[in-house]
Amino acid sequence: MSDCIFCKIANKEISATIVYEDDLCLAFEDLNPQAPVHVLVIPKQHLTSLADASEEDVELLGHLCRVCDKVAAEKGIKEDGYRVVTNHGEKAGQSVLHLHLHVLGGRPMNWPPG
Ligand code: AMP
Repeated sequence: MSDCIFCKIANKEISATIVYEDDLCLAFEDLNPQAPVHVLVIPKQHLTSLADASEEDVELLGHLCRVCDKVAAEKGIKEDGYRVVTNHGEKAGQSVLHLHLHVLGGRPMNWPPG
């Protein structure tokens, strides 16, 4: 989508600190980190959120989860524990309308989340 900021990052029209990339997805540092490690994992294909995904996307969604774990390992937070979060819609606080998985770690995580 031409006006989507994460599509622009995926297309390298906007710079980001990329920590992982393959044919299907990209992982980059969050601009406003909420933990010592805060990386966003996005599909290169535009999906607005998890609610926009269909049965056709099952493999892609599984791949994104595998990449979250890979990023956590590379960032050194796999052993101590990490959290993966995705927001859909206004009440969940989604601010960028391109599916993204937050990988958070490097500090204790509270539960329930706010
Ligand atoms: P959400 O509120 O779940 O939609 O999360 C959007 C996330 O994208 C926030 O954590 C923002 O800090 C992050 N963000 C927005 N723009 C950028 C950008 N250009 N580069 C990296 N992270 C971004």
